[in-house]
Amino acid sequence: MRRVSILGATGSIGQSTIDLIRRDPDAYDVVALTGGRNAHQLAQDAKDLRAEVAVVGDVASYAELQDLLAGTGIETACGAVAITDAARRPADWIMSAIVGAAGLPPGMAALEQGTTLALANKESLVTAGPLLLAKARDFGATILPVDSEHSAVFQGLVGEDITAVERIVITASGGAFRDWPLENLKTATLAQASSHPNWDMGQRITIDSASMFNKALELIETKEFFGIAPEKIEAIVHPESLIHALVGFHDGALMAHVGPPDMRHAIGYALHWPDRRHLPVARLDLAEIGALTFRAPDENRWPALRLAREVMKAGGGMGAVFNAAKEAALDAFIAGRIGFMDMSGVVEDALSILSAHEGPQNAPNSLDAVMDIDRNTRAYVAEALKNRG
Ligand code: NAD
Ligand code: MG
Repeated sequence: MRRVSILGATGSIGQSTIDLIRRDPDAYDVVALTGGRNAHQLAQDAKDLRAEVAVVGDVASYAELQDLLAGTGIETACGAVAITDAARRPADWIMSAIVGAAGLPPGMAALEQGTTLALANKESLVTAGPLLLAKARDFGATILPVDSEHSAVFQGLVGEDITAVERIVITASGGAFRDWPLENLKTATLAQASSHPNWDMGQRITIDSASMFNKALELIETKEFFGIAPEKIEAIVHPESLIHALVGFHDGALMAHVGPPDMRHAIGYALHWPDRRHLPVARLDLAEIGALTFRAPDENRWPALRLAREVMKAGGGMGAVFNAAKEAALDAFIAGRIGFMDMSGVVEDALSILSAHEGPQNAPNSLDAVMDIDRNTRAYVAEALKNRG
């Protein structure tokens, strides 16, 4: 039996992971399941999967979780520290699928037990890539990418020499506003930004897809995870979302990863790696699909892509600034305090002001240092938004 834990079990990636595990219940022993505030879903899954422990991040949801699990023998806990403790429980495979920088401390803790970490939480690599990889090296842990593009690149590199890679191309659907007139984006509503043409995902990453902040994070994630120079990494708009990424080699060959937009592929690949097992994803009918199309991304529509290039070039603590400013700007958009197109302005402003402290001269050398940058950046953005009125 493989011991598995799922951090962020109640979310979109967490539920897809549970779907795969449920199909083969005799193969897995479920150790820890964690959620944010959805005690009901968490308790249900903990009971169904007979988890050892269930943890909610939100302290106010704890009483409900305790009630729901009373008498089951399943341990319960709450709060951020308890989530990190849950990540330390011995497990062979741990899914990191909390959204945002909150996923970093438990992911780091999981690596300290030398486990295999399936990493959906791209924010960990963006904010603390070098620290995360060093932690994995020091403790003999393995990190497997779960972001669909990065799983695709990872699969494209099997048996290849990374020094023969000339370019990496990650695809972007273009999100909800791909075909909107540019001037309409200013007044785009939360509901409009929260619907994705191809993928069914959590609300935050769906909005980030419309703004391409998601793709911006993924460019940085590519640089950090694969150690590829920024100028070799490209994003291209591919509205069908069937090619997830392409790896280009020195001989001119481009190897594409093609599959349906279903995260259970990337999750399942990481679950069974290095083997390939049957997965319950749709098989593509290429004749029916007929054509795949591509276009260059317009950086006026998606300024986040330009900002990502600046962040990759600067290095240091700028990834942590970028992510925290993006999270704070997204919070403000969701709360109705700023417009859709204001988000990139807020992030750009934070990058330019905070680069004086957090640039390449000041690379964070500990988890605490990263979390400090995260907090300082959020405080800076909160102040800037207040002054804006
Ligand atoms: P989601 O919002 O659906 O789920 C997030 C999970 O994290 C939930 O379990 C939620 O309760 C929990 N959570 C949120 N805030 C928390 C906090 N402060 N403390 C503890 N737990 C908290 O998000 P998702 O779409 O599943 O995405 C999860 C991660 O995977 C993100 O990093 C995202 O970028 C990445 N990812 C998602 C997809 C996708 O298809 N959904 C694809 C690629 C990468
Ligand atoms: Mg992705």
